[in-house]
Parts: sequence; structure tokens; C-alpha cells
Amino acid sequence: MKNRTKLWVIMLISAVSSLVLFILLSIVVGSIWAKGYNLEKLNSISRETLNLIEQQSALDANNIHPLLDSVHSRNPDLRLEWIAPDGTVIYDTLGETGRYDFKQLVDRMVNMPNNLWGTDEPVSLVYSLDQYGQSYYLLLSLPSEAMQEGQYFFYARTNKVIYTLILPFLLSALVPYLLSLWFFSSINRRIGKLNKALNHVNFQSDVIVLDDKSKDEIGQLTRHYNEMAHRIHSQTGQIKQFDNRRKLLLSNLSHDLRTPLTLILGYAETIRAGAYKDEDELQSGAKIILQRSRYMDNLLDQLLDISRQDEDLLELRFTLHNLSDMMRQIVADYLLILDGQDFTVEVDIPDRDVKIALNAPLIERAFRNLLDNAIRYGSEGHFLGIGLTEEEEEVYITIKDRGRGIAPEDQGRIFERFYRVDGGRRSDGFGFGLSIVREIVESHHGSVQLSSTPYRETLFQVSLPKKQSGYRNDD
Ligand code: ADP
Repeated sequence: MKNRTKLWVIMLISAVSSLVLFILLSIVVGSIWAKGYNLEKLNSISRETLNLIEQQSALDANNIHPLLDSVHSRNPDLRLEWIAPDGTVIYDTLGETGRYDFKQLVDRMVNMPNNLWGTDEPVSLVYSLDQYGQSYYLLLSLPSEAMQEGQYFFYARTNKVIYTLILPFLLSALVPYLLSLWFFSSINRRIGKLNKALNHVNFQSDVIVLDDKSKDEIGQLTRHYNEMAHRIHSQTGQIKQFDNRRKLLLSNLSHDLRTPLTLILGYAETIRAGAYKDEDELQSGAKIILQRSRYMDNLLDQLLDISRQDEDLLELRFTLHNLSDMMRQIVADYLLILDGQDFTVEVDIPDRDVKIALNAPLIERAFRNLLDNAIRYGSEGHFLGIGLTEEEEEVYITIKDRGRGIAPEDQGRIFERFYRVDGGRRSDGFGFGLSIVREIVESHHGSVQLSSTPYRETLFQVSLPKKQSGYRNDD
């Protein structure tokens, strides 16, 4: 849930709960504050009184007086009257005697429900008791202020309501306050954690992984932080490895340059001093100087390649090319190189045009790198397979050899810069060729797959999308 939605929900909950709380508390506090009578209470007093009266042997003044006196002493607000069937007052708490006629009794009852709400008239109730075949009456009267309903009304009229309502009001006003406090402190706590974890991100220490499953903005931010921290951590590891390999490369390079240079210097010195035995020795010395110089030239070319590579990828321009044509031309070069060598070359490139948008020099470089590797590292298999297939959305370039192959543990890393399977032992390369291939192919939004079974088949497959975003293949 988004924070905005959460805030709305909290506001709604706090409004409803404070209203409910206010009503409940008002009722509780009101009932504690207003201790008056209600009809239920009066009914139960009269029922009890009538029960006691019923148990008397005679309903004359002698029996009734002490009984009703004791009820009155417990309820001093009540006026109790015991009336005989003919209207004669047998008992009255006020001590009045006499006899009620019909009109007097009815007058007592007129407008009675309204009296509950606090008029000056008393509230009167009549209960009857049938005894010895005749009806006796118990008359209960009390001032309207002694009624609970009357008291609510009375308090409302006299501002005393403030005292009964102030506590519920304060408590219910606390609810939204407490809920918002909880909401903001929980947001604060989560931001604090995020802040601490972000401060902790550096190249030395491990990342702090935060656990926040919430779907709101902070939850999303936390998940982004986790991903970012992991990325930084793994990239730091890669940078360290990269740096180690760079150092290894430099030491290998100085060794790779020093060894031929020592040879070149030695033979050059021999030739200069004329210290060779015969023409054959001179020729073989010159040949070694030539070979080693070419080797060094090749190394320096590769070094230049490394520095040029990033620039080329930055200024990438696509043009429409016939890939089958381009591949056929390159393959023709290699057939010349391999001519006379014990190599079977299998070429499967369609005769028709396969037109795709690409950066021709870069794709050619990638293709040549793969071919060079297949010839250099797969020579034991004496086989080179080159293929091009076209599908609806993509084209696939495959280069196969049957050499010693690449072990599964190296396959994942072989495309990293400066990674060499032999761990840096002397070889012609810097472990840069395949990383160039991958970077070029990915810059074309394609991918490179590798599968290898030693001496059976080592296959590099490059897939390239036929359409490049930002470039329209119109023809
Ligand atoms: P290098 O410049 O050393 O050739 P690459 O990135 O081209 O670097 O290749 C990295 C490593 O992968 C090489 O050192 C080699 O051991 C291995 N490799 C590449 N292609 C093949 C292949 N076709 N068969 C066996 N090993 C290969």
C-alpha cells in the first residue's frame, strides 16, 4: 500500500474510532455522573415492594407503614403512597391522608412522559396489587431531576455537560494523535535504518541487507537499496579481480616483452660483432630477430586494441550491411591462411543477402577474434566450422572447433576482461579477445553463447537482432 493511501486509511480509522470511543466514553462517564432513576429501576423497586406487601396477612396501615418506611429510607427521593380500592390513602411518605377521586389520580398521570425530560412537574407511576378480590395501588412519585433522562437534559442545560464530556473528548482526540505518532515514528524508524545502511555502503565492508516487505514507497526504496548494495558489492569484487588480473597482465607483459627482447639484443649483438660462424647461423639469427619482433609487434597491437576498444564502443554507428557477404569475405582470408594446414573447414553461409543494421568494423573484429581463438586454441581438433543462419527476428553466427575445449568452471568467466584459462601462463593473448566479442555483441543488443565438449565440439554462437532501435531497416 502506498504511503498516501496508508495516510488516508489511518485518517479514516482514527476518525471512526475516535467517534466510537467518544460515544462509548460519553455513555460510560454519563452513567457514572448521572446516578438518577430510570423506569427499569423504578419497576424493580415497585416489584420488590409489592412482593413484600403481598406476603402481609392484612393490608392495613399497621402492616404497610414500617414496610414502606424502610423502602423510603433506602430511596429518599421517592414519594410512596399506598391506596385502598376506594381511593383512601393508607400510607403516604409525606404523611398526607384523605382520598383520591378519579380526576385527582388522572391529573397526576397527565403529561407524565414529558416530565421525564425535566419539567417542574413530578414523575408519577402507579402499580396495582390484586388481593382478596380487590385492587390496591402503589403510587410512586419523584422529581423529574431525580430521573436519569432528566439529569442528562439538566446537565446539558446547565453546562455541566462539559464535565461529563470533556474526558471522552480528550481521550478520543488522543486517538488520531497516537495513530499519526505511530505512523510517523514507524516511517522515521524505517528511513533511519535505510540511512544507516546507506552510510555503511563502502568498498571494504559487507553490505547490510534490509528486510522490508512493505509495498509502500519506503519498501520500494529499501528493495532498490538492497539491489544496489548487492550490485556494488559484486562490482567491487569484480573490480578487485580485474585489478589483480591487470597487475598480473602487466607483469606477464613485461616478461613477454623482455624475453624476446633479450633474444633480439643477443642476436643483434652477435651479428654486429660478426661473431657468427657462417651464413646459416646469420640467417637463423636474423630469422629469430624477425620472429620475435613480429611477436612483440603483435603484442603491442593487442595493447593498442585494448585502449581503442572503449572509444569505438562509445561512438557506435549502425549501417545496413549484407552479413552473409561480409562473412564470406572474412572466411576467404582465413581459407588462405589455413591453406596447406591440416584443417577441415566447414562453411555454411547462405547465398542470399542477409541484411542487418550493424557496425561493420566492430562485428568483423568480433568475428575474427572468435575465428582466431578457434584456430589457436582448437587446433588439436583440425576442424573449423563457420555458420550463419537467419530467423525472423535474429541472425545466428556460429564458430565451431574440436579442440581441447573450455572447462565448465572457466566458461562463466571466459568473457571477462583479462581472464585466461591458463591463469596467465605465457600465451599470445591478454585474455581480452572474448571480452571484446561480448562487449561488441552486447552493444548490438545481441548475446554470445558458449558450449564446449572437449575434442568433440566447442561452439560459440553469436545472436544479433535484425533490427536495431534507432535504426530503420527500410529496404
Ligand atoms: P586471449 O587473448 O588470451 O586469446 P580470449 O579472451 O580470446 O583471450 O580467450 C580467453 C581464454 O579462453 C584463452 O586464454 C583460451 O584459454 C580460452 N579460449 C578461447 N577460445 C577458445 C577455444 N575455441 N577453445 C579453447 N579455449 C579457448
